Amino acid sequence: MELWKKSLKELSELIKSKEVKPSEIVESFAKRTEEVEPKINSYVTNLIDRALQEAKEKDDQLVSMESIPELFGVPVAIKDNISTKDIRTTCSSKILENYIPPFDATVIEKLKENGYIITGKTNLDEFAMGSSTENSAFFVTKNPWDLNRVPGGSSGGSAAAVAAGIAPAALGSDTGGSIRQPAAFCGVIGLKPTYGRVSRYGLVAFASSLDQIGTFTRTVEDTAILMNIISGKDPKDSTSANVDVPDFTTYLGKDIKGVKIGIPEEFFVEGLDPQIKDIVLNSAKELEKEGAQLVNISMPTTRYAIEAYYIIAPSEASSNLARYDGVRYGYRTSEYKDLEEMYSKTRDEGFGAEVKRRIMLGTYSLSSGYYDAYYLKAQKVRTLIYKDFMNAFEKVDIILTPTTPDVAFKIGEKVDDPLQMYLSDIFTVSVNMAGVPGISIPCGFKGGLPVGLQLIGKPFDEGTLIKVADRFTKIKDFSKNFPEI
Ligand code: GLN
Repeated sequence: MELWKKSLKELSELIKSKEVKPSEIVESFAKRTEEVEPKINSYVTNLIDRALQEAKEKDDQLVSMESIPELFGVPVAIKDNISTKDIRTTCSSKILENYIPPFDATVIEKLKENGYIITGKTNLDEFAMGSSTENSAFFVTKNPWDLNRVPGGSSGGSAAAVAAGIAPAALGSDTGGSIRQPAAFCGVIGLKPTYGRVSRYGLVAFASSLDQIGTFTRTVEDTAILMNIISGKDPKDSTSANVDVPDFTTYLGKDIKGVKIGIPEEFFVEGLDPQIKDIVLNSAKELEKEGAQLVNISMPTTRYAIEAYYIIAPSEASSNLARYDGVRYGYRTSEYKDLEEMYSKTRDEGFGAEVKRRIMLGTYSLSSGYYDAYYLKAQKVRTLIYKDFMNAFEKVDIILTPTTPDVAFKIGEKVDDPLQMYLSDIFTVSVNMAGVPGISIPCGFKGGLPVGLQLIGKPFDEGTLIKVADRFTKIKDFSKNFPEI
């Protein structure tokens, strides 16, 4: 089997046993990248030449190395809103097009300590606002399963890269579904950890109370390996939680007898494609055959999640994006008569339409007179959503839902209709609102396009998600399914 088809774990074992060299691995990915990347466009910044260079250095180091770190010489792609020292970090925005951060995000520091090799910075919807990568200021990424369709978003570049075999794994960020939705559309595994599990230091802020960094992989084992590396309290991020990090690999290969799985009625209603519904409910039955217990539950306030999210996320975004003023860093307009005009022209030319829409929505809901009616009300709804989850978790261990109401849509299909675009996150946003972990795993195909199954866990219980997801992938394994490109 070609090296680019292998999982992180398989690659890491080949390196640890010194059967292959890091440069052989990176060369295999370089060849694959050359073949398919021009059709997919997953990278804003393709770093494969740099990766080949780094791999050669690692070849030499490996000769005399005794203890070899987990990811030594193994490639990983990184979403382009995660800060990488001396490597351009654009957020797929014109305003940061030439921004080169002087520091690494904590997750990058951790990957470096583990010897990983960065292969590229992946495309996203500008500042992670969107569900298709069509909001990227640079270009649209294509879905490897059908080049006329979107890969999902906002982490569409990361999902497409892993699905196409351009990288064995990638990091993304998820504010309302941006890891799980593209993972579902591209037929790979995407985990959004509990809010606070992974440091956000160096993740360019969109909506700080919702943003979380997570993983894209082909196997659940690789999810566990990456989670072991990136999780944990970080003094540089006061919202990272001081909670013990278990060894997530200990949850692999376990049986799931007696695990209670909640099926919330509100997630199987009108708007959900009937074929997706069947595939997802059949997947639940497969888990039942393995000894899990299915329990019907109700989570009545989750139906307000989209509305509340589109008040809270833009409010936080309008505040976070105030820093792009042409003074501190990033783009500055070339001609202006005074400071005021410099600010407004910079922001007008630097931000795309969706980002501007969110800034306006957010500024409106935070303004005096509207704050109580919109922002405060949305926060109250958020508390009710959280309570819905906590009530459910008194009865069940995890919750099972579809990840998306339908498969990947066509490029251009929803660009002119932001409300339709927002609805593609209808099953994922409540998870961010509650701050709990969620994973999307491939569970079937509809008309040749992948379908995702979402499992939602108790706070800081990614372990049970990994356990059940791993069991499921033993029943239905899509890890070696690569699209014809
Ligand atoms: N699609 C959602 C939005 O546009 C979620 C994006 C995300 O999770 N970053 O806000």
